[in-house]
Amino acid sequence: MTTYFAPSTLSEAVAYIHENQTAKIIAGGTDLLVKRYEELDSMTGFMDISHLAELKNIKTGEEVQIGAMVTHGEIAGHPWLLQHVPLLCQGAAAVGGPQIRNRGTLGGNLANASPAADLAPPLIVLGAVAELAGPQHQVPLEEFFSGPGKTIMQPNQIITGVKFTKPAANQGWAYLKLGKRKAMAIATASVAVLVAVEDGQLTDLRICLGSVAPVPSRAKKTEELLRGQRLDSLELAAAQAQLQAEISPIDDIRGSAEYRRQAAGPLFRRALLQAIKNAGVEPDA
Ligand SMILES: Cc1cc2nc3c(=O)[nH]c(=O)nc-3n(C[C@H](O)[C@H](O)[C@H](O)COP(=O)(O)OP(=O)(O)OC[C@H]3O[C@@H](n4cnc5c(N)ncnc54)[C@H](O)[C@@H]3O)c2cc1C
Repeated sequence: MTTYFAPSTLSEAVAYIHENQTAKIIAGGTDLLVKRYEELDSMTGFMDISHLAELKNIKTGEEVQIGAMVTHGEIAGHPWLLQHVPLLCQGAAAVGGPQIRNRGTLGGNLANASPAADLAPPLIVLGAVAELAGPQHQVPLEEFFSGPGKTIMQPNQIITGVKFTKPAANQGWAYLKLGKRKAMAIATASVAVLVAVEDGQLTDLRICLGSVAPVPSRAKKTEELLRGQRLDSLELAAAQAQLQAEISPIDDIRGSAEYRRQAAGPLFRRALLQAIKNAGVEPDA
């Protein structure tokens, strides 16, 4: 028999999942009910977390905290986030179409662990930490994904949200997604870039790519190459070549590995220049 339980508090949810570790957590259901439709009958039970008010908050300030049940639509249209963390709003706005954004949640996007998840690259460059309950644990999002559809979460854990520090005034950002069409398309390749610019110099940067490796991944060697470079003599061609060398795309229905490698280079270059521009500097290239 399939059971259904909808806790009204987080502590009830934690206790239930501890006792029923094969129960499937359901948040917005946009992924679970579509992708696993054929398997629904064989699932032993569901825990519906959509009533947990504790997971629906967005806390603003120097430390930003977003609950797991916050939807893509809420992130994309949140006035404070749009002003201070537009990078994340852009990631959320790139998800599916209005129906998916209205139901799909941040927690579901991360737990689903798709290499193409649109919230993952922006959150990783923001240095976000995933917050888990039962047992409680905090883990840098960068270390959260362990393979396509896999995370480091234990079966009795729930994502309660993410937290990160508000970007500084001298930081610029960009999120670009390449898909077969402009809406309702899973990324063939995506890239988030966050830069810090001071006195004409790229003092720091983080780059994270989606859909070009088994998990959303930082391009750390490319970051190293560019860190400290002057904006008037950026080694863009070398950076692009380095980025293409350090990704490990695969062939799938959305594109071949070779296409992804070719496309990721210019996509990254555009994102970098856009990020520098968003930091308030007009790049030369
Ligand atoms: C037509 C269509 C288009 C889509 N387009 C995109 C797209 O462009 N970009 C993109 O990134 N995604 C896309 N998706 C995938 C999906 O909708 C999103 O990833 C969404 O954020 C999933 O959230 P949800 O709340 O609906 O998750 P659910 O379907 O409820 O759950 C997904 C998985 O996460 C687990 N889970 C959910 N919440 C938690 C939690 N708090 N703690 C632990 N485990 C949890 C569930 O058990 C399940 O395994 C698309 C899906 C469809 C059907």
